[in-house]
Amino acid sequence: MLQRDVAPGIHRVEDAFVNWYLVEDGPRLTIVDCGVPRSWGSLQAALAELGRAPGDVEAVLVTHPHPDHALGLFAVLEELPVGRFWRSSGEDDGDLYADLESACRRAGVPAAALPAGYSLRLAGARLDVLHSGGRRHKVDPVNNQSLVLLFEREGRRALLTGDAGFSTEDGLARTELLSPVDVLKVGHHGSRGSTSRAFVAALRPRAALISCGRENRFGHPAPETLATLDAAGAPAFRTDLSSDVRIELDARGATRLWRRGP
Ligand SMILES: [Zn+2]
Repeated sequence: MLQRDVAPGIHRVEDAFVNWYLVEDGPRLTIVDCGVPRSWGSLQAALAELGRAPGDVEAVLVTHPHPDHALGLFAVLEELPVGRFWRSSGEDDGDLYADLESACRRAGVPAAALPAGYSLRLAGARLDVLHSGGRRHKVDPVNNQSLVLLFEREGRRALLTGDAGFSTEDGLARTELLSPVDVLKVGHHGSRGSTSRAFVAALRPRAALISCGRENRFGHPAPETLATLDAAGAPAFRTDLSSDVRIELDARGATRLWRRGP
């Protein structure tokens, strides 16, 4: 069971293509991504377990316009009185962003692209946008335009990377933006095209989250990714092995709490 009295944190669920993160900061909730339509059901269940009211959702963010990160957001926008919708400033190789923005108009939710450098203020924390959009890379162009978000509260930090791969990681590593984090949400489901050694060395995560479905056909997470994290001393928490993960971040350190077993 989720403990209801631990407030600030990051939650993540993925079961096959169910994929969402809930950033909980005191009274405010921010939803980052929501995968296939049935993701909405699991998100709804978690909100109920946390004793949250529908009106607690301040903002919804989508890291990039791919179905495994965005399709469940239609139900979120329809069912919850969301305060604000933010998307990456990257390109769309389908109509997902246009369709989501139409859903926002129907629901009366203000929608906009979130630029790199922007900072979202939460109740006692903030989400800094380290990356959004940018140039079109040859490999995985939409993935590499993902929002990369740094959550920070009381000196504790977690990096949410969407499906960003090496190109984005290398670009970030060339800036002054990377510094040690408590938790790294590993990019692109732990694929072999993300989580470079240089990126992990700059972040020195104390724990890593990998969203990947059980026996997924992509072979996520890649052995190389697991080896990189292992060499860096970052234990990897995988949704294919342990289902939902809840992490609380506060001044005392990061604590992980499991919601459901395998
Ligand atoms: Zn994905």
